[in-house]
Amino acid sequence: MTFSKISKILNDVNNILFPHLCFGCNARLYRGEKLLCTICRDQIPLTEHNFEAENEVDKVFYGRINIQKAAALLYFEEEGIVKNLIHHLKYRGQEEIGTLFGDWFGSQFKSQDIPFKIDLVIPVPLHRRKQKKRGYNQVSKFAERLAFHLDAEFNETLLVKRAHTKTQTTKDRWLRYQDQEGQFLVENVRELHNKSILLVDDVITTGATMESCGKVLLQAENVRLYLAAMACVR
Ligand SMILES: [Zn+2]
Repeated sequence: MTFSKISKILNDVNNILFPHLCFGCNARLYRGEKLLCTICRDQIPLTEHNFEAENEVDKVFYGRINIQKAAALLYFEEEGIVKNLIHHLKYRGQEEIGTLFGDWFGSQFKSQDIPFKIDLVIPVPLHRRKQKKRGYNQVSKFAERLAFHLDAEFNETLLVKRAHTKTQTTKDRWLRYQDQEGQFLVENVRELHNKSILLVDDVITTGATMESCGKVLLQAENVRLYLAAMACVR
């Protein structure tokens, strides 16, 4: 028996002993299904936001920050498929769920023929210690796939999150941008000038995190800011 045959048998045995389960509903996945079963794919609450008509996520940011447009892929509900997926993405090491969402949303954008060009995709950062503990930023894969589909640059090191500190003195204000609390920070400010930036997060609820990050990015000259999230509350 060849090695590849043995490996295939072991794989099948492994699948019987430890079947792959749907991260939306815990049902067993069958051949051709990945991460999500066919029923969950049909039932998942898509927002059907596009980048032209105004939607509820735009309204979250009215009078708070000057954004061009915002959109989310899914509706986040107290229980159900989306909540389960986000939980597995954030707390159970299932980073690939971010890839799934990014490809899903990214191909939607592509088919919509959006009337502007994104230069740079930036994920909302985690604090270094938190990221080390989790092993990854749960938004990175999502942002990376969006950048791929939009033919834009992906950068997850430009915007950083620090531990809570008070605003530093203005001595180096030309060298860095930060929010009022000094929580989010950009050092290489030149990288932002004259760019159309898509800032990306997992779930938009109050919009406070996006607002803080957005305010930092908007300190750069001639920046147009767009927002995208995996999910938003209704
Ligand atoms: Zn399912």
